[in-house]
Amino acid sequence: MHHERDQNEESLAAAGRRMFELAQELFPLHRSITGNGVRETLDILARRVPLKTVEVPTGSQVLDWEVPQEWNIRDAYIADADGNRLVDYQASNLHVVNYSQPIKQRMRWDELRDHLTTLPEQPDWIPYRTGYFRDLWGFCLTHRKYLELDQTPDREVEVCIDATFEDGALSYGELRLQGELDDEVLISTHICHPSLANDNLSGIVVATELARQLAALPRRYTYRFIFVPATIGAITWLHQNRRNLHRVKHGMVLSGVGNADELTYKRSRLGNAKVDRAVEHVLKQRGNTARIRDFAPTGYDERQFCSPGFNLPMGCLMRTPDGEYPEYHTSADNLEFLSEASLADTVAVCLSVVDVLEHDRCYVNKNPFGEPQLGRRGLYRAYGEQLANPLLQQAILWVLNLSDSRHGLLEVAERSEIPFHLIKEAAGLLERHALIARSESAVNPPAVDANQAWTHESLLNQIRIETPLLDAH
Ligand code: ZN
Repeated sequence: MHHERDQNEESLAAAGRRMFELAQELFPLHRSITGNGVRETLDILARRVPLKTVEVPTGSQVLDWEVPQEWNIRDAYIADADGNRLVDYQASNLHVVNYSQPIKQRMRWDELRDHLTTLPEQPDWIPYRTGYFRDLWGFCLTHRKYLELDQTPDREVEVCIDATFEDGALSYGELRLQGELDDEVLISTHICHPSLANDNLSGIVVATELARQLAALPRRYTYRFIFVPATIGAITWLHQNRRNLHRVKHGMVLSGVGNADELTYKRSRLGNAKVDRAVEHVLKQRGNTARIRDFAPTGYDERQFCSPGFNLPMGCLMRTPDGEYPEYHTSADNLEFLSEASLADTVAVCLSVVDVLEHDRCYVNKNPFGEPQLGRRGLYRAYGEQLANPLLQQAILWVLNLSDSRHGLLEVAERSEIPFHLIKEAAGLLERHALIARSESAVNPPAVDANQAWTHESLLNQIRIETPLLDAH
């Protein structure tokens, strides 16, 4: 037992190290919602897991949106009259507002003020700002540097953002691990932030490590991992895959999962999807310190997956929720803000959730009249050393009692408050002793609730009406 635990801890530590090293490699790249930073990121991931990059051309209509032009940047600075860089993109890619329009112009410092963002409360941090779908340009700098430069308001400066907007593509990454079933578990993470670590490199490295580990395990479900630019990337993926969404039975958005804080789980819009129950059970068994929140249409890409037309059974796993820590969207969300232990712990939790999803099934008690005589079969504690764990003994009684082909093992775990892995172990023992048998009844009710306003069918019809009806006579 001890040996097993040591090994487990060792492999978790190794996973933590691996994820941190990957984050280090990805950190300097300048990601945005489109462009080469995203492609390079996906290329690096593809060296570790069998991920393929999908390119969707600029101008493509995706749901109510359009894929924008591709943005790429080479350099940016604010320089003094002698060419000394006062604010230098080469020092931090956060200095430029993401998706800024190009500019090269001389002006007075005080004319530049409206294009500058700082954080007066955190004078040594550079804020992270974006200008997606807006026609603007700007710089971000520390408030300390700003105050220093602002002492000479009439100084002449040269402002340069050497960026291009061109027709190109939106890139996203996709990885599919086929299981026995075509039913899918969808894991999504965003990949559009530049040099920020917890938001969003942590989600990228955890999803990659999870894919790596799942690839080596037997799988009932098919697992699909998508690495998409936030919002527009999720919308693009949903548009392209709208005919196959009925296969998504469970899913999760991973983001901000690497800082040293407890986990937070935000439920799916359905509120009681199996993935919601599975995550809550796993987190509760860890000591009830995690935060569980109801769905809200704010946050990450669960906003798209749980929009009313799709209403997918997907929650969001994070640590401190977005916007609730001061480092969020600033240069202080750097590699030092990441914890290897937190990254490893997130993978462990995800694997426990996967274990529940994979093994939740109904059984039927083949000897339901009174308790079967467990001692005779070596299944009673007093008679067998195998059952040294008293919780396993209780788990056996719970599984026997609820095996009426109506209650799945997750429900047994919820009602007994015994960890799912022990319930699963008890079911395995009872099955080997032919005291229970797998039931045909599904513990997998349809993922989409019957009351939802839009069925997938009506959604498809709605999307298909792209050309005007012909017979308008
Ligand atoms: Zn963010």
